[in-house]
Amino acid sequence: MKSILEIETEIQQVKQDVVNCRKCELCKTRKNPVVGNGSFNASVMFIGEAPGYHEDIQGVPFVGRAGKVFDELLHSIGLQREEVYVCNILKCRPPDNRNPLDLEIKACTPYLDRQITAIKPKVISTLGNFATSYVLEKFGLQSEKIGKIHGKIFHIKNLIFDAKIIPLYHPAAATYNPNMKTVLMDDFKTIGRYLPKKT
Ligand code: URA
Ligand code: SF4
Repeated sequence: MKSILEIETEIQQVKQDVVNCRKCELCKTRKNPVVGNGSFNASVMFIGEAPGYHEDIQGVPFVGRAGKVFDELLHSIGLQREEVYVCNILKCRPPDNRNPLDLEIKACTPYLDRQITAIKPKVISTLGNFATSYVLEKFGLQSEKIGKIHGKIFHIKNLIFDAKIIPLYHPAAATYNPNMKTVLMDDFKTIGRYLPKKT
């Protein structure tokens, strides 16, 4: 098992590499890269899509409108931001929040891979279609549209990982569709079932 210091050192290195990254055009328009934040020994890692307007300004993931919904969902299962790890598929904001391009995902996801390997979460919750298809395929699983597989549990076990992947709708969906919030609340309970008991 890695020590917290080793994990912290690797995460800091990823941060440094992202700050210096020029691998895609998004480095030209971003204000700040958004690497990720949270606990280095988090049991749960949430992976969103890409920074939006507020995230780009503050350099922190999920601090805008979707972030508010995300915090509510976390609190509904007794979690605080400080005890989970949160990051995105892309570390720099796409102009006008457009969808990530394939070449951007390809260029950027080695950073995410390093974050996943360093933190080694027990539960990886992917938020929305982009994170879901990237992570499931990375582990050799077949992905489907989020409407079909949200709240399902995928088990991964190999030499490095013994974890569950739980895809969820992106919390932004609940900012324009209130029914979505109910679905998300319900799916979050599934995450709650796989959390280690607090002592
Ligand atoms: N949407 C995301 O996918 N990630 C963020 O950090 C903010 C909004
Ligand atoms: Fe580099 Fe990722 Fe930012 Fe592109 S989005 S410049 S690959 S950190």
